Amino acid sequence: MRFEELGLEPPILKAVKELGFEEMTQIQEVSMPPILKGRDVIGQAKTGSGKTAAFGLPIVQKVVRGNGLQAMILSPTRELALQTTGELKKFSKHKGLKVQAVYGGVGIEPQIRGLKDAEIVVGTPGRIIDHMERGTLDWEGIKIVVLDEADKMIDMGFVDDIADIVYNLPEGRQTLMFSATMPETLHAIRDEFTRNPVKVKTETQVEATLLRQFYYDVEPRQKFSMLVHLLKEEKPELAIVFCNSKRETDAVARNLQRYGIDAVALHGDLSQARRERAIGMFHAGEARVLVATDVAARGLDIKNVSHVFNYDTPEDTEEFANRIGRTARMGEVGKAISLISERDREAFSRVLSVFSYDVTRLELPDFRPLPFDRHGTFEARTRPYVGIERYARAAPRGGGRFGRGEGRGRAPAAAGWRGSGRRGTQSGGSAGGGHRNARRPQRRSYGRSY
Ligand code: ADP
Ligand code: MG
Repeated sequence: MRFEELGLEPPILKAVKELGFEEMTQIQEVSMPPILKGRDVIGQAKTGSGKTAAFGLPIVQKVVRGNGLQAMILSPTRELALQTTGELKKFSKHKGLKVQAVYGGVGIEPQIRGLKDAEIVVGTPGRIIDHMERGTLDWEGIKIVVLDEADKMIDMGFVDDIADIVYNLPEGRQTLMFSATMPETLHAIRDEFTRNPVKVKTETQVEATLLRQFYYDVEPRQKFSMLVHLLKEEKPELAIVFCNSKRETDAVARNLQRYGIDAVALHGDLSQARRERAIGMFHAGEARVLVATDVAARGLDIKNVSHVFNYDTPEDTEEFANRIGRTARMGEVGKAISLISERDREAFSRVLSVFSYDVTRLELPDFRPLPFDRHGTFEARTRPYVGIERYARAAPRGGGRFGRGEGRGRAPAAAGWRGSGRRGTQSGGSAGGGHRNARRPQRRSYGRSY
């Protein structure tokens, strides 16, 4: 199906054309018509299937310029919020809408100013609540809310925040939920938040013929040397190396740098500025290797990723699918290479039992064993880092503050927030007018049972 058949306004079609989209992707084909009709939609499709446009284009169609804030998109991470903001800006370029991103870790003042005349807000739950509590985000005119990467937001512990936000939005709003997986934990909120939703699900977007998968059986201590060997042999255009922990991510990136490979780390403990720099450098091809945790890399759309390396195998099989979905996107070819040691084996066989992947086992080649400096103690003794020293040397900042469930831990100070919210009366606060407190959302206490 082509975009012209949807009845989109000419300025939107113009933007779509400039983006080079011709055919709709599967998820777009099944979700856009009901969204445009005003139905609640729950969409499930793998990473890279074009979900942003699936909800973004209908939003741009429905939002009226100059009518205040009308659409809200919730994102699990700041990077994704920024990326989605960028996409929405492109979609709405010729319609002249204002899209404002709000996320933690940066000053709030520019966001407050930006929200004044924005029609669409994209943000992380913690910061959205912050703005709602301050009365700097006018949610009463919101007619569409999107929970993007809903599964990830639940994983990250945002369920209470999301409930607090969603229950305060106007009753008649349209609710859209998109995710790559549909775990049990999502069923409950899915039914709570939506009204008579249309449920759509599409199969993987990664074309089997374009993605080739390999694995090596390795000893744990061989992993790093093999990775270096493979990076040198394969010469990826851009590669993402996935690790299961933040600590491992840091250690691998730091060691790659020691051997002259232009790698950057991306995980939730890095400061906002460093995360943005890392992604920026990777986008620009200044760093060809991004070493990342699943959470940090979730949803990020980076083109020309020719290789995905599983340095560790994720426990969650869906996460494996999301990882390899980073390459072979939209008609490009790609390779996914997994390094399987004893502790990965169980998770890896689970992956192979769930998906019908064709993964070829390769014999270990001759490679040079390289020392792996896990704790940064060799630094003083070896030659200086080659390349991007700044990244390697700056001490990690931010501690646990922006760790799992980022944005949390900054619970609103206002005591009046909690407890008083009862479903169905939540937007009644508007009757109070004028008084600042009246504009505060009612905080609904939401059990941790999900
Ligand atoms: P998802 O949210 O499902 O992971 P994205 O929305 O990030 O996927 O889209 C992945 C990539 O596909 C983006 O670069 C986007 O510009 C591109 N894309 C989306 N829809 C189309 C389309 N209909 N035709 C071509 N490219 C598309
Ligand atoms: Mg997405």
